[in-house]
Amino acid sequence: MGKYDYLIVGSGLFGATFAYRAFKKGKRCLLIEKRPNLGGNLYCENIEGINVHKYGAHIFHTNNKTVWDFVNSIVEFNRYTNSPVANYKGCLYNLPFNMNTFYQMWGVKTPEEASKKIEEQKREALRSLNGREPQNLEEQALSLVGKDIFEKLIKEYTEKQWGRKCTELPAFIIKRLPVRLVFDNNYFNDSYQGIPIGGYNRLIDGLLEGVECRTGEDFFQSVCPSTGKMWKDSWREIADRLVFTGPIDQYFNYSLGKLDWRTVSFETRIVETANYQGNAVVNYTSHDVPYTRVIEHKHFEMFGQQVYDCPKSVISEEYSTEYKEGMEPYYPVNDEKNNGLAESYRKMATQETNVIFGGRLAEYRYYDMAPVIEHVLQII
Ligand SMILES: Cc1cc2nc3c(=O)[nH]c(=O)nc-3n(C[C@H](O)[C@H](O)[C@H](O)COP(=O)(O)OP(=O)(O)OC[C@H]3O[C@@H](n4cnc5c(N)ncnc54)[C@H](O)[C@@H]3O)c2cc1C
Repeated sequence: MGKYDYLIVGSGLFGATFAYRAFKKGKRCLLIEKRPNLGGNLYCENIEGINVHKYGAHIFHTNNKTVWDFVNSIVEFNRYTNSPVANYKGCLYNLPFNMNTFYQMWGVKTPEEASKKIEEQKREALRSLNGREPQNLEEQALSLVGKDIFEKLIKEYTEKQWGRKCTELPAFIIKRLPVRLVFDNNYFNDSYQGIPIGGYNRLIDGLLEGVECRTGEDFFQSVCPSTGKMWKDSWREIADRLVFTGPIDQYFNYSLGKLDWRTVSFETRIVETANYQGNAVVNYTSHDVPYTRVIEHKHFEMFGQQVYDCPKSVISEEYSTEYKEGMEPYYPVNDEKNNGLAESYRKMATQETNVIFGGRLAEYRYYDMAPVIEHVLQII
């Protein structure tokens, strides 16, 4: 083991993209990853010939042509378009809220009829507010879209996600609830979206081609073979710079306290049918079903006859779960306490010499995939 330009901790999209760019520039990189697999949360497990998104369904979307061209230069992306369906007590509604949803909800057939109905319901909500500002998420959502959409498509789903009543959640969580007066179920407004053909592992493998990678190595707990000391205590002996994509509070040994996270747990199973729900994403928006969504993974990558050429299917039920030690940290908690703590850690990070902190764990910020790549392309 020689001397490296960069030791990269973590093989998620940030670490892998950084490694790719550095390697292309002739830098010597070593990447370590504590999990047995590379790819961070993008990693897919192949079950019954289907790429199963093990750490949550991932749909790539962006308006940034440079980012889109970059990922497509590594692996071509397919034409998957996210168009989720909501199931409320057995009735199905298209998302995001659009003319299909309004037809299913009220039988209205024209944008004028739909708009009248929404305005009527919003007026009712605003009347009961009696001139005051919405005090909680429930009042906020009612004033934006009215009672029917709120009760069937937002209320119980949000309560399952947060584990709290909408009346106890702050209004700022929902700033806007766009409604579309066109028959368009495409969830994202971005110009580009899709899934890598052959799955996300191909994207990661392409990014890390030629880069020296070691899995099962934890920066805080594993011993670096060439120094005989923990990676965290001896990395400066083997690399000029560190790219750290793990949790920022752990890097500083939780000296200011621990950051909180929200998480999701998945129950994944094989089903003996080629087509279980006819869509990749179905949201369950009522309390009588304990999970929030069911993902049928094959629909991300198989279309038309391909769905039936693969005789089985794999589905994952998603449960919003309170984060406990040992679980996967998924979403930063966007409240005053955690935002303040994260800011203090970020300040400490600026004092670290020759260390780049990047990605969702090291910045304690939720990032979609495209902004992660955009960030890396800017710094190297
Ligand atoms: C449930 C869920 C669904 C999502 N869906 C979408 C989506 O549909 N579309 C979209 O654009 N984005 C989505 N995202 C966001 C996407 O996952 C992130 O943008 C992306 O994962 C960020 O990459 P990263 O490298 O920062 O983090 P990660 O993928 O988390 O990678 C960090 C890596 O560092 C490793 N690591 C941590 N600590 C150590 C250590 N001590 N030693 C060694 N290795 C370590 C971890 O094991 C991990 O592999 C989703 C996120 C979640 C949580």
